[in-house]
Amino acid sequence: SRIRVMELEEQPDVTFENVGGLGEEIEEVREAVEYPLTKPEIYERIGVEPPKGILLHGPPGTGKTLIAKAVAHNSNARFIRMSGSELVHKYIGEGAQLVRELFILARERAPSIVFIDEIDAIGSMRTHDGTSGSAEVQRTLMQLLAEMDGFGNRGNVRIMAATNRIDMLDPALLRPGRFDRIISVPLPDEGSRREILKIHTAKLTLSDVDLEAIVGLTGGATGAELQAIAREAGMMAVRRDAEAVEQSDFLAAIKKVRREERQTFTPDT
Ligand code: ATP
Repeated sequence: SRIRVMELEEQPDVTFENVGGLGEEIEEVREAVEYPLTKPEIYERIGVEPPKGILLHGPPGTGKTLIAKAVAHNSNARFIRMSGSELVHKYIGEGAQLVRELFILARERAPSIVFIDEIDAIGSMRTHDGTSGSAEVQRTLMQLLAEMDGFGNRGNVRIMAATNRIDMLDPALLRPGRFDRIISVPLPDEGSRREILKIHTAKLTLSDVDLEAIVGLTGGATGAELQAIAREAGMMAVRRDAEAVEQSDFLAAIKKVRREERQTFTPDT
């Protein structure tokens, strides 16, 4: 059961082709994670230490996990993912031990990329409820910091984390030698929404669909929401028993996803 909190993917099948926008962010991640694994000699020749840990932060559903998987795919590395919130909520009393096991596994299976999602669950500076969880969470965080300090910058285990709440993080996590490369993953702008919509509509049979209009109607939507819109539009066409997905399906899908997310997308100005 405890292995479930550590998801081991031999090599994710996500590639950079699956990621819309985020060109600069991807390049930064590759420099910090992929190239140290695939061309370590460059870092040695130049004499520069790649960052030890990188932190991706930004709104939920903007592609942080997607980038981590694509980098693992490209690096020919195993992808070991741990959810900070599961660790804290499901494995009470075992947090520190699981973190220890995570890094043992990472070393055994190297080259590997450790990805800690929702790291704020273990690394928040304030504990807002007075539950007994807090001392335990503190121990888990201490273990994580100790593990990171035990790693060199150039090893074949690379460490990534993601959060939606960078403002909540304990500054100890962001010190040099820990998660000292911080990469912001923003909401997609117009160009990125176009790319994301193209990716998620690639397999749909479309008829007279004006993607540009959809791009214009989805300001503020995340990548995950755009994916949901494409899927819903497809479902609408299935329900109509139609030959193809039409513009009206997309308009209905936008309404549905907007309602579910209790959010208003705004036309770009
Ligand atoms: P969370 O903080 O909720 O974990 P995240 O930023 O890690 O969110 P992902 O898991 O990467 O988000 O994205 C969820 C899904 O949304 C992806 O599997 C993908 O299908 C879609 N998606 C998100 N961002 C993009 C993007 N930039 N390009 C293409 N698809 C995207």
